[in-house]
Amino acid sequence: QPAPAPRVRFAPSPTGFLHLGGLRTALYNYLLAKQRGGAFILRLEDTDRSRLTPGAADDIEDMLEWTGIPPDESRRRGGDYGPYVQSERLHLYSQAASALLETGHAYYCFCSNQRLDLLKRAAQRSGLVPRYDNRCRELRPEQVQQKRSEGVPCVIRFRLDPGAEPFRDLVFGWTRHDPAAEGDPVILKADGFPTYHLASVVDDHAMRVSHVLRGSEWLISTAKHLQLFRALRWTPPAYAHLPLLLNRDGSKLSKRQGDICVQRFREQGVLPETLLDIVTHAGSGFSDNRIGRRLDELVAEFNVAKITTHSALLDLDKLDEF
Ligand code: GLU
Repeated sequence: QPAPAPRVRFAPSPTGFLHLGGLRTALYNYLLAKQRGGAFILRLEDTDRSRLTPGAADDIEDMLEWTGIPPDESRRRGGDYGPYVQSERLHLYSQAASALLETGHAYYCFCSNQRLDLLKRAAQRSGLVPRYDNRCRELRPEQVQQKRSEGVPCVIRFRLDPGAEPFRDLVFGWTRHDPAAEGDPVILKADGFPTYHLASVVDDHAMRVSHVLRGSEWLISTAKHLQLFRALRWTPPAYAHLPLLLNRDGSKLSKRQGDICVQRFREQGVLPETLLDIVTHAGSGFSDNRIGRRLDELVAEFNVAKITTHSALLDLDKLDEF
């Protein structure tokens, strides 16, 4: 029986314009989908309202289109909906949070910012990683009801199981990380907006995502996500984390974001296929490292199993050779 066609998503936060790191993540998702007749979906993760950059959401979609890897399920391209915007889907996250409260996998937390700050400072003074001490786990139902009726501001936290259950990442192989070390994470904030962890899991389920391909900075969050999937009784997708993409000197790409915006290369007259080529060249995923593959060749030759775990270096000085 043939495997079902993949459904993948590129899920940037519209906190800045699309840069080469994001383009690489988007492209690899696109390649995985298109090589097996699947769908490539754009999801804008805009739930952290304090970090939004005006124009970023449009820029991301414009630049995906310009580079020739537009998302499927897009209103711009004649679809009924899409891209998916998390701030328009708040009901889904609060439904999931309620379900978790009902089954005892989540709880209300009334700890003030002041208390959380104190905990944080105490940990830092002792050279420890700040950790929420899960105090509100112990509240009795009548205490919760009392505080709720008094209108004490609260968040909802997910009750993490201790222990690091290993999972297999398609790039990094068997991986384990104990998420409980940081304390129970907030899943729904006081303003009713979800945090990244809840929103990401709810949407990956709702959008029937089969493979999550994202930057390796999210590898350690995956254990948390898998626990959320289990608590909600949903089947998780497969995970593949992409190694970091760094400047040639090994420094973090985001430090010089302005320099690596896709828009900027477009203004300079760089061709879209050159940009796709340069991000794949840096990023492995192919059996050889030759230059000059067209998009259809990238689709045909891409192989997740060939992605290596070491950081990829982006050599923009070589732009002329491409
Ligand atoms: N919004 C996250 C980001 O900006 C997405 C992480 C993910 O793909 O799950 O990188």
